[in-house]
Amino acid sequence: MSQRIRIATTSLAGCFGCHMSFLDIDERLIELSKKIEFDRTPLTDIKKLGHCDIGLIEGGMGNTENFDLLREFREKCDILVSMGACAINGGIPAMRNSFGLKECLETAYVEGIGVTDAQIPSDPEIPLLLNKIHPLHEVVKIDYFLPGCPPPAEMFWTFFDQLLNQQPIEFTYSQIHYD
Ligand code: SF4
Repeated sequence: MSQRIRIATTSLAGCFGCHMSFLDIDERLIELSKKIEFDRTPLTDIKKLGHCDIGLIEGGMGNTENFDLLREFREKCDILVSMGACAINGGIPAMRNSFGLKECLETAYVEGIGVTDAQIPSDPEIPLLLNKIHPLHEVVKIDYFLPGCPPPAEMFWTFFDQLLNQQPIEFTYSQIHYD
């Protein structure tokens, strides 16, 4: 890795809550910023992905755009991290996996409460939905998993601290229990 490691992040079928939790390391972001720099990420609004040391992805893979972006992150990031329950097992969006895609679309756009112009969107600009939400590791190799919905801020801090100091990644019980 270079002196300042280059990090990219993105959200696929996610809610940005994992990104918010990362920001919850608060003032330690200043300390971290001396060691990292951001590439493509919604935190800086950089849109183009270059070669990175680490890529963090929240959200599962649910449409064709997600698929292309996930493949690009795997190609350009030396280390790829699934952050959060949606990336790791599909999370809340994967609740639609119990139903057919047609049924989901009709429920949302035709029969939904308050729908007045019943029409399933078909603009070619809109990425096509896949039949199911997929966890990221079903599609590409994932190097690290940060569990939780969202992973707690302390987990992000521990992860970066240990990785940047080339230590094995180990979380405390309090960082990974949810009871
Ligand atoms: S894991 Fe939770 S916080 Fe993260 S994207 Fe999914 S729903 Fe949002």
